[in-house]
Amino acid sequence: MRGIKVVAVVSIFLLSVAVLLNAGQNKFGVADEQKTVFSHSVQVGETLLPKGEYKIRHTMEGAVHVMVFTQLKASNLATAAREVPDCVRRKEDRETYFGYQKSGTNDYLLQEMAFKRDTAKHVF
Ligand SMILES: [Zn+2]
Repeated sequence: MRGIKVVAVVSIFLLSVAVLLNAGQNKFGVADEQKTVFSHSVQVGETLLPKGEYKIRHTMEGAVHVMVFTQLKASNLATAAREVPDCVRRKEDRETYFGYQKSGTNDYLLQEMAFKRDTAKHVF
């Protein structure tokens, strides 16, 4: 009986690991949470985020996709939230990239971003 118990515990453990691994992407093909480091300040909509390390969360407010940027490891933590029209399917290499546009005095107005392995990107 003891052997069966051990097998059961190991199975449950393996199942949890599988669930955790599958939790990487949501139904839109993007991970719910990412981390990134901006080596320069980045304009997200109306908000200018200072350079630094950020957690970026994909959240839903009803049917609206909202990307929430939260700075990590800083004394004054900068945050920004930006609605995105939708998550757009992409066929490309699935690498991480950030697309910027120059706007007035700012060189880095965020236009779109995609993360490694995600099958969709966020277009602002
Ligand atoms: Zn989305």
